[in-house]
Amino acid sequence: MKAETKTPLLGMNLTQLREVAADCGLPGFAAGQIARWIYGRHASDIAAMTDLSKRGRALLAARYTVGRTAPKAESRSADGTVKYLFDGAGGRDVEAVYIPDRDRATLCVSSQAGCKMGCTFCMTGRQGFHGQLTAAQIVNQILSIPESDSLTNIVFMGMGEPLDNADAVLAAIAVLTEPWGLAWSPKRITVSTVGHLPALHRLLGQTKVHVALSVHTPFADERAGLMPVERAWPVARVVEELRKHDFAHQRRLSVEYTMWAGVNDDMRHADALARLLRGTSARANLIRFHAIPDSTLRPASQAAMEAFRDRLNERGVTATIRASRGEDIEAACGMLAGKNKSEKRP
Ligand code: SF4
Repeated sequence: MKAETKTPLLGMNLTQLREVAADCGLPGFAAGQIARWIYGRHASDIAAMTDLSKRGRALLAARYTVGRTAPKAESRSADGTVKYLFDGAGGRDVEAVYIPDRDRATLCVSSQAGCKMGCTFCMTGRQGFHGQLTAAQIVNQILSIPESDSLTNIVFMGMGEPLDNADAVLAAIAVLTEPWGLAWSPKRITVSTVGHLPALHRLLGQTKVHVALSVHTPFADERAGLMPVERAWPVARVVEELRKHDFAHQRRLSVEYTMWAGVNDDMRHADALARLLRGTSARANLIRFHAIPDSTLRPASQAAMEAFRDRLNERGVTATIRASRGEDIEAACGMLAGKNKSEKRP
């Protein structure tokens, strides 16, 4: 059997690994052993699973592979941020961004190659949709970077809309949080979404991870122009839904708000955003925009961002201006393009 036809073990839960064990004639407890090897000990090869019988390893290796692949390339920023390139889908690569910050080390992972959502301010959205990443590909980004062991936080804020690939993202979250997986606290994980309402219900019901909602403007007509998703799932409806959940204790709700000069950076927007978020305990992250080619959008000034932050704080919404990281390697918010190395950057 050719190596490329083998099924990756990475991303599988214990039930799936039991089926794998049965498929290979291994005892049921081998599922726990395999999980310990791939998630606990970060094994990248079935040959390393020495507590399985030699025959068991051979049977397993005939049909399956661990599914670990090292990054194809990396770019290092002057500020310590590192952007890693991985194989994606549909012939497109994807990027994961490692962001060290004092005692935190965050990895921003991708969930899709490209994106269907078409947000006008985003380089990923511009390239269109090329395919879903598998749970194995998502988990691989986390386990296969050199800094894997030192990671403190995972944010699903890379390429793609995570909730448009909910099956794989929920499977990856299970790997991260379940005792048979990496056993992380869900408080170390944040899923960012434009407000994909049906999958948001699943995320809220099945996990306790933090949620970051991309709002960018509180006004429906403006938002529809920037983010076509507004027409399918209006942000007001999404916030109404979020209001029903407890974000004060177990999990946190944040709102992502990229700021553009003359578009969404005045007090009218700040007041409307505060009204939209009333009763939610959401915090607002104000994000500096990084100009992208062929766009009329320009970054808001520092003074406008500070005034906006102060107004939100006065209105009872905790707001901070998020530090921009990795701009020099095109790793900042909205800049991920994941182009193949053979393609020319604009
Ligand atoms: S901002 Fe997010 S949802 Fe919108 S196009 Fe970019 S990757 Fe997709």
